Amino acid sequence: MIVVMEPGAPEKQIDTVVRRIEELGYRTHVLRGVEKTVIAALGDEREKMRLQALRSLEYVEDVVPILKPHKLASRTWKKESSLVPVGPDVAIGGPEFVVIAGPCSVESEPQIMETATVVKSMGARILRGGAFKPRTSPYAFQGLEEEGLRLLAKAREQTGLPIVTELLNPYHLEQVAEYADMIQIGARNVQNFALLKEVGRAKLPVLLKRGMSTTIDEFLMSAEYVLSEGNANVVLCERGIRTFETATRNTLDLAAVCVLKRHTHLPVIVDPSHGTGNWQYVTPMALAATGAGADGLMIEVHPDPTVAWSDGPQSLRPDKFRELMQKLRPFVAAAERTLAPMEG
Ligand code: PEP
Ligand code: MN
Repeated sequence: MIVVMEPGAPEKQIDTVVRRIEELGYRTHVLRGVEKTVIAALGDEREKMRLQALRSLEYVEDVVPILKPHKLASRTWKKESSLVPVGPDVAIGGPEFVVIAGPCSVESEPQIMETATVVKSMGARILRGGAFKPRTSPYAFQGLEEEGLRLLAKAREQTGLPIVTELLNPYHLEQVAEYADMIQIGARNVQNFALLKEVGRAKLPVLLKRGMSTTIDEFLMSAEYVLSEGNANVVLCERGIRTFETATRNTLDLAAVCVLKRHTHLPVIVDPSHGTGNWQYVTPMALAATGAGADGLMIEVHPDPTVAWSDGPQSLRPDKFRELMQKLRPFVAAAERTLAPMEG
């Protein structure tokens, strides 16, 4: 349920309504808009008649149900698109189309430094790189772990780019949060509810990737776990789902971008690298994602994909990433967004 307060409702009265809702056994989230304040009552809606009684309180304009199973993620709760800040001067979901780029895994100091410098010069705004890798095989490279985090922080120091990196389990949260500007929850963990609750209590923004077999509704419910713990800074990432098709690694569901943008105020970005698994399809799908209304992209870039320790076949060489960024520019302009300039 949402309790809508009348414009100009005094703070004291808002507090009173919040207290009354909590006395009924609901959790509350208060959203102060320019004109009106709205209060979400989260909990078992079987008791909704008792919430309806709040209509009789002073300055309460309306009590309306949120019909979607996701509440805080829904546009019923928050009509304006959310802006998620990452580091001191980047925000996803606003006028700027934000490109996140970097290697699948952090492999060495020269590898991450070179990649960071190159992607920044071409207009990327956030550096990605895995330090803890979720690999299908336990014998595959699992990531440099804390050393990887240290190298990412060094790359941030050198380039000024904020960094996003994956958190695999709650035990590493403190360590990852010490280095990262944004925490990535990968496709394999999208329904790890214990992990979602932990990052919901963290201060850093969260990049939540869709699972390979997660429906859009389930994906939004995962976002709801993070939001309901108090972390409002969630960015959704479409990265392909599993279908009968085997010509691509996953089937990139670009229609999901339109569906998500309609039903949620959260920013939505697209990862055509994992979405296709083949570098040759990354640029066309990046352009298509921009056309579909995405707020940004996540692209895997490696100085030499032929020797990459993970996901070489889908990683772009620097010259191919430059080409992508050049081709992207008119698409971003057509979407009435801006793209950071390319240096030189
Ligand atoms: C990644 O981005 O490094 C990754 C492992 O992607 P996903 O979780 O989408 O498979
Ligand atoms: Mn990868």
